[in-house]
Amino acid sequence: MGKQAFAFEEGDGKNKTLLGGKGANLCEMTQIGLNVPSGFVITTETCLSYLASDDGALPESLMAEVRAQMGQLEEKTGKKFGSASDPLLVSVRSGSAMSMPGMMDTILNLGLNSETLKGEIEQTGDARFAYDAYRRFIQLFGKVALGISDEPFDEVFAEIKNSKGIKEDIGLSEDELALTCDEFLKIVKQQTGRTFPEDPYEQLELAIKAVFNSWMGKRAIDYRREFNITPDMANGTAVNIVTMVFGNRGDDCATGVGFTRNPGTGENQMYGEYLTNAQGEDVVAGIRTPKALEQLVEEMPEMHKQLEELRARLESHYCEVQDFEFTIERGVLYCLQTRNGKMNAVAMVRTSVEMEREGLLSKEQALLRINPQHLEQMLYPRLDPNVRVDAIAQGLPASPGAASGMAVFDADKAEQLGNEGNMVILLREETKPEDIHGFFASQGILTSRGGKTSHAAVVARGMGKPCVAGAEGISVDINLRQANIGDIVIKEGDWITLDGTSGKVYQGQIATVESEFTAELNTLLGWADEVARLKVMANADTPDDAAKAMKYGAMGVGLCRTERMFNDPERLPIVIEMIVADTKLERQEALDRLLPIQRADFKGLLEVMSAKNVIIRLLDPPIHEFLPSEPQLQREIEQLKHLYDMAAGANVLSHSMNLLDSDAGRRVTDKVPLPSVVDPSLVEEAINKKISMLKKVRSLYETNPMLGHRGVRLGITFPEIYSMQIRAILEATAECVAQGLDVRPQIMIPQVSTVEELKFIKQFAESIHAEVEKSYNLKVEYKFGSMLEVVRACMRAESLAEVAEFFSFGTNDLSQATFSFSREDAENKFLPLYNERNILQDNPFEVLDRKGVGKLMELAIKWGRGCRENMSIGICGEHGGHPDSIQFCHQIGLDYVSCSGPRVPIARLAAAHASLCE
Ligand code: PEP
Ligand code: MG
Repeated sequence: MGKQAFAFEEGDGKNKTLLGGKGANLCEMTQIGLNVPSGFVITTETCLSYLASDDGALPESLMAEVRAQMGQLEEKTGKKFGSASDPLLVSVRSGSAMSMPGMMDTILNLGLNSETLKGEIEQTGDARFAYDAYRRFIQLFGKVALGISDEPFDEVFAEIKNSKGIKEDIGLSEDELALTCDEFLKIVKQQTGRTFPEDPYEQLELAIKAVFNSWMGKRAIDYRREFNITPDMANGTAVNIVTMVFGNRGDDCATGVGFTRNPGTGENQMYGEYLTNAQGEDVVAGIRTPKALEQLVEEMPEMHKQLEELRARLESHYCEVQDFEFTIERGVLYCLQTRNGKMNAVAMVRTSVEMEREGLLSKEQALLRINPQHLEQMLYPRLDPNVRVDAIAQGLPASPGAASGMAVFDADKAEQLGNEGNMVILLREETKPEDIHGFFASQGILTSRGGKTSHAAVVARGMGKPCVAGAEGISVDINLRQANIGDIVIKEGDWITLDGTSGKVYQGQIATVESEFTAELNTLLGWADEVARLKVMANADTPDDAAKAMKYGAMGVGLCRTERMFNDPERLPIVIEMIVADTKLERQEALDRLLPIQRADFKGLLEVMSAKNVIIRLLDPPIHEFLPSEPQLQREIEQLKHLYDMAAGANVLSHSMNLLDSDAGRRVTDKVPLPSVVDPSLVEEAINKKISMLKKVRSLYETNPMLGHRGVRLGITFPEIYSMQIRAILEATAECVAQGLDVRPQIMIPQVSTVEELKFIKQFAESIHAEVEKSYNLKVEYKFGSMLEVVRACMRAESLAEVAEFFSFGTNDLSQATFSFSREDAENKFLPLYNERNILQDNPFEVLDRKGVGKLMELAIKWGRGCRENMSIGICGEHGGHPDSIQFCHQIGLDYVSCSGPRVPIARLAAAHASLCE
């Protein structure tokens, strides 16, 4: 075996495999000139060789190397290991290539014995301090190296404190601590049958073995299994032997932790805490309240100055915000550890921008150090991190952000309460398009069924509202207007809080922290756009959504789901009329009323997105979704029938009154006011309408509507619906062009599986186009394209490209179709178990399945562009906002990703990462 121990001055600071993370770090800090207590590292290789040996002996020549290193330490410190006048004390610490906090063993104050203790007292002039250090060492060494449990030590210590009536350790005097040491030495004798090892080198040898052994301790093995730490990531532990420095040797001593910049705000100012006359453990244990570092300016001005220098040195070397530990011993500052600081998103973004300006980072580094997903914190409100409460239910984190409000169980009630200025959470089993007005009025949406691509999830994401979907532990009773979660009952009007980022639901109102889209974030995303190749578009259904998406930096609209425009409460009755119409003429009448409304929608959208592509998808969902459900209609018909009987009865009564009058010569009608009644014929008319709607609902019923009469199939069976939409788009375009606007509409057809479908629609699009150009007397440009969300569409991409000028992958449906997993059900029923058992690594509705769905996409791109070179191809499924999927989209050569507005910043950064990591 090669060299087994390296002084901090000679070890390779980058070789964590050999020296462990902590050891390599101590070497690097020493070599850049920081004042690190002197020490050396024993390699992980030595550990492995020791663990592999049969005789339990340390590898040959190790102790010779250790003695040589100790000799060097003695020279550097001027102290002597085992000296009775000025003893050198060391710590013996574990440290593998991967951080495993608290999983392995550490011994402090090694080198103390009955002789060196005297030297320590002489040197420090503080006997109390020396005894305290000794009793800590005996216990820790006894436990780690000799295998004695803490209990006998703790019992004796407690007895001594009790007998003196003392509560805190700090209250113990020198004599009491000396007594403790004696008692502890007796425990060692009793438990091991031998006296405490006095020879410091024997202590050191036993300690090294103990740290090596802790690599195979149960705690460490469990930790590695839990966090999937494999031998190629970390194998064996190094042992760091470091000169002890003490922050608890008087009032000119201190210990603390610092950040080179504020980790909460990113402000370029040192931030941290310290305690005078204390040990590191005291800061961590929270026994005393630490002081802010600014106070050090007054208490120890010279030390504060040196800390500022240390801070500058750390940043200029590591080019990253550092989180460091320090100790001040008798006016000398030591840096014990440094690592990259963990910060919140606001601080990450601010420090990226400022450190680029200061020349510490390049723009590329400034972008790459931020995890795109982390930006979510800055884009949505979140629960106040200081509030700790238990969740009452867990669902899927379907749309991020946090919100509180009164639980309401239907959209009308949500709208009513919302309009009165109340905060509400719409709580339903699942939502339907007709609930849309409830979404507008609510702070957040909670459903007990459905997945991350359910209606509730997709609509909430589009609006940037929090949503927890599929919280199956909640049972909603719409009749009683309450929800039950185990024993907990949520009545209408009770406050609840949602966290759409974690999927948790809480009782009551919990404070939230607002989102912070800062100027620095804008700057950073500007840099991202410069390096990204993928464009980032938004899924936006209304001019309002589009305007919001623009603020997030959307470069166009990648998907406008037109059906969302139909759900406005004022339009829905016209849409229903269109659907239930018995004749073509009746349907056309309803469509004629919808045309100007749609035209205005599209005009608004095109105006907001002027000079940018706007991809408008024609009607997609099965039309029964716009109608009330069968049970609801049946209930309403029953109620109307009761009303009919009442109305008829009231009429009979009014006639009968006259009879009463004539009977007895009384004037009853003068005394009893006749009930004001509804005209029964009106009620009858309403009943007939509802009955015919019920018939329609039944005729439109589908067992599996997701695979049924929807998308282009609907466009072919009811061409007048698509005609109206195409006309509205082209007329809106013509009006914009007439106003001199540069608008770029693209008409997209959903659910296409064969080119013949495209040809059919294209044919009437062309004739409407000719009519519009003629009637407006100007040139109207548009593009015509297809969604690829059906497996056959991918396989026939070459043929589709003959007609389609662009493609957009609808990966929500394409994932559903490729796996044959229902997107509404899979996420709640079996996917969690699939993930747990590693049958599937991810949820394919969230993270694009590269191997299956991705393969289809690659083939479709190749075949599509084989027919139409440079064809624009993008993605508009939910995966378009997921960083890992965005990287894949970049790799396979897509032109753009499209995602909900609030995810646009995340996607912009992820697109930049994809380019930079190529
Ligand atoms: C898709 O299927 O990916 C898509 C964008 O369409 P929708 O979610 O509206 O079905
Ligand atoms: Mg789809």
